[in-house]
Amino acid sequence: MAVIEVTDLRCTYGDHVAVDGIDFTVRRGEIFALLGANGAGKTTTLETLEGHQAPAGGSVRLFGQDPLQERRAVRRRTGVMLQDGGFAGELTVRETADLWAKLSRRDGDVKTDLDRLDLTGRADVPVQQLSGGETRRLEVALAIHGQPELLIFDEPTTGLDPESRRRTWQVIGELVDAGSTILLTTHYLEEAEALANRVAIMRDGRIATAGTLGEVSAQLPGRITFRVPAVPLPPELEALTTDSRVGEHVLETYALQADLTRLLAWANSHGLTLDRLHARGGSLEDAFMGVVA
Ligand code: ATP
Repeated sequence: MAVIEVTDLRCTYGDHVAVDGIDFTVRRGEIFALLGANGAGKTTTLETLEGHQAPAGGSVRLFGQDPLQERRAVRRRTGVMLQDGGFAGELTVRETADLWAKLSRRDGDVKTDLDRLDLTGRADVPVQQLSGGETRRLEVALAIHGQPELLIFDEPTTGLDPESRRRTWQVIGELVDAGSTILLTTHYLEEAEALANRVAIMRDGRIATAGTLGEVSAQLPGRITFRVPAVPLPPELEALTTDSRVGEHVLETYALQADLTRLLAWANSHGLTLDRLHARGGSLEDAFMGVVA
């Protein structure tokens, strides 16, 4: 069942088209990651889903409802991260969390929220004294209050140290295990790889490619690199060669296992040692670079 349905969405700022006709669906229980270079249109898409701005064209539906027209009903079921500057700096972390818990109208224990994001020790500190990473963790803590059915996270781990990032990934995993659906943006491809079931890579307001991690990665060829003394490769492997300097070969293939097997059989039958042999399938990074480069 679709929790989010985006159909031919267009968003503009004056004459500037920020989102140019995108479609995607996020199903219940999924983690969906929107990726793309700076300015691709990710935040604009999230803000439209959060009901902060009206689409210039197309439609967005959360739980089958319009987030602008049925804002109250949708917001109650949706946890969103505040954008920068949304806090009153003189309130403490606990006061801020209490206030936002009330506004969310979702039941839940604020103490647990702060604890999950390692903020208990900072509960009595005014928000304006938090570090960048602590502020980001507070934003996540507020969003998850009351275990909403849907969570929309805009770059949830930007600026976090590696341990805090892992902790946040763990919390996101726990939320999904408990039944939540997650839409997030990130600039960390390893974060998308660690968390997401499906991704969409945006460029210039459009979705350039989308699918499961396996589908998106498989759109790019795998690579086999090795060194071997100056002997000609068999023609079927020579045909895959994209780069061969003195003795070093780079092959690209969409049939990694079959071509690697062929290479190893050829090397064995000629008594050759393949030095620095390295083989890997297409990766999310390859797909990303293919879109944004
Ligand atoms: P980033 O990775 O840098 O956060 P993004 O993919 O989230 O980028 P958006 O913030 O959605 O991109 O911006 C999409 C486009 O819309 C950009 O060209 C940006 O300059 C423009 N834009 C965003 N907000 C505004 C605004 N308030 N007024 C005018 N143009 C805007």
